[in-house]
Amino acid sequence: MKYRIPKGTVDLYSPHIHYSQAVYSHACHLFTRYGFSEVVTPVFEHTDIFVRSIGESSDIVHKEMYTFNDRSGRSLTLRPEGTAGVVRAYLGNKQTNVDAHQRWFYFGPMFRYERPQKGRYRQFYQLGVEIFGCENPYYDAELIALLAEYIESFQIPEYDLKINNIGCKECRPTYNRQLQEYLSRYTSQLCNDCQYRLSHNPLRVFDCKNKACRQIWEEAPLIHEAACPSCQSHYENALFWLDQLDVSYVQDPFLVRGFDYYTRLVFEFCSNKLGAQDAFLGGGRYDNLVEEFGGKPTPALGASFGVERLILLMKEYEYSAQPDIPFYYFVVFDRENCRQNVPFIQWMRRQGYPVLIGDYNRSLKYQFKEADRKNADYVLIRGENEIAEDTIQVKNIRSSQQDNISLSEFKQQAGSNNT
Ligand SMILES: [Zn+2]
Ligand SMILES: [Zn+2]
Repeated sequence: MKYRIPKGTVDLYSPHIHYSQAVYSHACHLFTRYGFSEVVTPVFEHTDIFVRSIGESSDIVHKEMYTFNDRSGRSLTLRPEGTAGVVRAYLGNKQTNVDAHQRWFYFGPMFRYERPQKGRYRQFYQLGVEIFGCENPYYDAELIALLAEYIESFQIPEYDLKINNIGCKECRPTYNRQLQEYLSRYTSQLCNDCQYRLSHNPLRVFDCKNKACRQIWEEAPLIHEAACPSCQSHYENALFWLDQLDVSYVQDPFLVRGFDYYTRLVFEFCSNKLGAQDAFLGGGRYDNLVEEFGGKPTPALGASFGVERLILLMKEYEYSAQPDIPFYYFVVFDRENCRQNVPFIQWMRRQGYPVLIGDYNRSLKYQFKEADRKNADYVLIRGENEIAEDTIQVKNIRSSQQDNISLSEFKQQAGSNNT
């Protein structure tokens, strides 16, 4: 019997894995420069925290969560996104009582029962950043600048940054009423989903791709025009700092983001390489979420993206995630030859070089073929003569050129190439 992989999931191998390693390692390097540190939370949480944060009426909570009872009857859910767990962790961390300002990033698998399609899986990887305890709109701009720098580190030259102001808990209810009033004039023309949204959470109507619904919502009152003076001033300040940080953006009055917890400034990075101006990275402020989780009022903001979508984009722009250090295949004649060369091979590995050693029970011909299959850059050989003379045979697989060079010269080259 042959087992098949569960629908909507994927096994990750090389070379794909080089891309996800690059996603993670660029984040570790770059985010650290902006004062972030990594946080790792469990892949499952109490169901309640997702219902509360993402919103009962959202598609995620409604249709897409992997929810189950554990053996003690607790309702648990595989995390469909990262922010809720990180907020819960923020409140569980004693340090945050002394220092409300924390900057964390996370990387890991998320789970949603979605219709599988290109770049979308039921277990997918997400990378996210969260900043807690910062009210100042400067930080909205700085977070966006960091993300732009991060994207550009993969040589992705073109993308659109869309931003919008979606107001706060003071001004949003007024807007929701305006929107409801407007939409209820067209109830019969809206799709079933939008009719449900109209009564439960009218903002979600802007997510609808249905043409008829779109024509209706495109004429709706604009959310940023309904923002209160304090939201207006926050937004304008964020724009000022985006200009200072040299980040270009377009203002999109219909951008509302998929989660209910967002407030004030929201943003999305989009690329038309992913289909119709699809977003691959998004985020915004969520100034009330910490308080809603039972904490002190704590302004916060964050962003996250699906790693698979970013990798699609990296591939579109032919970013090479392969490590650019040479890969060596060491051919050995027999057990004794292997014994004599092992110390040198271990030295190479400690220098940081990938070396694969051939199986001395296999023929030389087999080992050379294997070097080829493994995409080695060089084949190395040291027989009796080379060992006696302190030299090494180096064969460049691409050019087929073979040289016998002194070991000290090789070591020098190896040392200087790999700093
Ligand atoms: Zn407001
Ligand atoms: Zn609709």
